[in-house]
Amino acid sequence: MNIGVLALQGAFIEHEKTLRSLGANAVEVRLPAQLDDLDALIIPGGESTTIGKLAVAYRLLEPLYRFAISKPVWGTCAGMIMLAKDIGRDQPLIGVMDIQVNRNAFGRQVDSFETDLTVPELGSDPFRAVFIRAPLVTGVSAGVQVLARLPEGGIVAVRQRHWLATAFHPELTPDDRFHRYFLEMVGG
Ligand code: GLN
Repeated sequence: MNIGVLALQGAFIEHEKTLRSLGANAVEVRLPAQLDDLDALIIPGGESTTIGKLAVAYRLLEPLYRFAISKPVWGTCAGMIMLAKDIGRDQPLIGVMDIQVNRNAFGRQVDSFETDLTVPELGSDPFRAVFIRAPLVTGVSAGVQVLARLPEGGIVAVRQRHWLATAFHPELTPDDRFHRYFLEMVGG
C-alpha cells in the first residue's frame, strides 16, 4: 500500500517510520502530483495555521480536498483540525468531516499531557495517548462515530466514512494499533 504523509510541517517522519514498520510504503507529499498514486493519506500534527498556509502556497488545498473525497485520510492533532468543517474561525482547511473542533482546547497548565484511553475498536488494552496543545471535538453530526473520549467525556477520536481523526499523537508512542486500524480502513 502507498500511504502518503503530508510533509509540509510537523511530525510527519514519525508517521512514516510506523507505516514502514507495518510494511506499508510511506510517501512524503509536498506537491499535488505526489498525490497521484496514493491509496491513502495521513495529515500529521504540527501547527494547523502553518500547514494550511503552506498548502495554499503550494496549491495543495484543492487537490487535498479532492483526494479526501475519494480516498481514506487520517488527521492527527493539527491534521484533525485540517479535516474539520467547523473550527469556529477562519483559516485554510480541507474541511470534509462533519465535526466541530476547538483548537488549543486545553488550558495552559495542561496544554500537553498523556493519558490512557479506552478505545473499544482497538481491543480491551488501554491506548496511551500523547496530547500536545491538542484540539478537542466539541460537536459531531449524525454519521460520525466516536472512537474515544477522555475520562472527563471530551471526544478525542472520531471516524466518519473513510476519514479518521485523532486529537492526540499515536505516531509518538510505540503502540501502533491506530496505524493498523487505519491500514485496515484503507485495505477494506
Ligand atoms: N495547536 C496546534 C494547532 O492548533 C495543534 C497541535 C498539534 O498538532 N500537536 O494547529
